[in-house]
Amino acid sequence: MIRSCAYAAKRSRVSNTDVGAGKISIAEPYFSVCRYIEETLAKHGHEAWLVGGSVRDLLIAGKLSDLDYTTDATPDRVQKIFPRTVPVGIKFGTVLVLHKGQKVEITTYRADAEYHDGRRPSSVHYAKDLATDIQRRDFTINGLAYSITMQKIADHCGGVDDLHNKILRTIGDPIQRFTEDGLRPIRGCRIAAKLGFEIEPATLTAMRQCIDVTRKVAPERFYDEWRKTLRMKNRRSYWHHLLEAHILPAFLPHIADAFFGEARDQFLREIDHLHLRTMADYAAAVFFLLNIREKQKIEGTLRETKFPTAEMRHCQALLTTPLFQLGNAFDRQAFKEHLADVPRRERLAHTRFFSSMRAASMRTGGELPGPVRQFRERVAGYYSSIRLSREPMDIADLAVSGTDLQTIGLSGRAVGDALENLRIAVVKNPQLNEKEALLKLARA
Ligand code: ATP
Ligand code: MG
Repeated sequence: MIRSCAYAAKRSRVSNTDVGAGKISIAEPYFSVCRYIEETLAKHGHEAWLVGGSVRDLLIAGKLSDLDYTTDATPDRVQKIFPRTVPVGIKFGTVLVLHKGQKVEITTYRADAEYHDGRRPSSVHYAKDLATDIQRRDFTINGLAYSITMQKIADHCGGVDDLHNKILRTIGDPIQRFTEDGLRPIRGCRIAAKLGFEIEPATLTAMRQCIDVTRKVAPERFYDEWRKTLRMKNRRSYWHHLLEAHILPAFLPHIADAFFGEARDQFLREIDHLHLRTMADYAAAVFFLLNIREKQKIEGTLRETKFPTAEMRHCQALLTTPLFQLGNAFDRQAFKEHLADVPRRERLAHTRFFSSMRAASMRTGGELPGPVRQFRERVAGYYSSIRLSREPMDIADLAVSGTDLQTIGLSGRAVGDALENLRIAVVKNPQLNEKEALLKLARA
């Protein structure tokens, strides 16, 4: 069920009235959950506003992404008022309320105190009103609040105008806002790209001027931001904004220089079209498309950006996949022999990476779309045919075991070496995978 309410066609930069023009529709169960939150707090004498990215996405896409509320009730009041709560971010005034299977984050009005080193506020102070809370938020489009029960948007920072004009602008002086928190320029590039918005000129200039603050951001926060663009449609635009804001030397210092000339053009052209499933895929594609092959730069970047060890290893394995040893012309058998050198669990990921990167190189080399498509179809065809055929590729697939080899007199390392040689032999010729034939081969 969709509940909707019209909001009046009146615009005001700083007001607590209806603004904008259009219709806000909220689907169930969100409508009932939001009404429950607002009515329950109202019954206890408190205000509650949906706020931030959730209002922004509601106004743009007509959908609620998160249920984020802000209120004048202190966290201990929120915990007393609602029966099911979790103190998820109590240090920052946030309590999670559980209702009808939904999670609602309720944060008490805050006015952040001093920032040290452009990282996190040194402490938080609760504020009395919504207008003060809005001033601590980063961008005007993230500073809107909405009350479902009052059917009212509160715009204390000109966010509605910027939303209509598709502009990303800081709330207040951009230099000051970026000096407080050096992650904001990166958040800004991501949010502008996600929404297809322009970055307002003074905001963009400040991003460039605050690079030294951005350098101080904790790497885990960089990684999280990068991860949020994994499934984003407009990745090209995200990287384009990072480039125009001159942020890359702070974000990815080891490889910032590589975003240059033809490599940069290839990267920007391809990055939107890739089906990236993991951060390892994403990072490997970045390195490959920018022609970065130096182990030191790759490792340095992954380490400094705090990639988990498993992702780091997977990324490095993709970049050195045996499939890249294949020349331009190869048949199913050659493909299979190279694929067999990839650990079984990673074969699909390597095939996808090889196929998309080789296709990118073909396009860069001026190849027409037809041959590129045929190449990709051929690789996909080889992969599925090999998988379906269940042809032996691993030691576990062999018709003999280590124990069998011991019965013919092999021992110690010789057993492992023999198994590996037999594996190579049956990958070349699956017909050999028969006990007697393999034992004979092992004896030879
Ligand atoms: P997304 O969910 O796409 O990452 P968002 O804007 O919703 O974007 P959240 O991290 O969910 O980001 O934060 C919710 C809101 O909190 C933001 O809309 C903004 O009002 C505020 N906020 C988040 N991070 C910051 C920050 N670094 N500085 C100031 N305000 C912030
Ligand atoms: Mg959000």
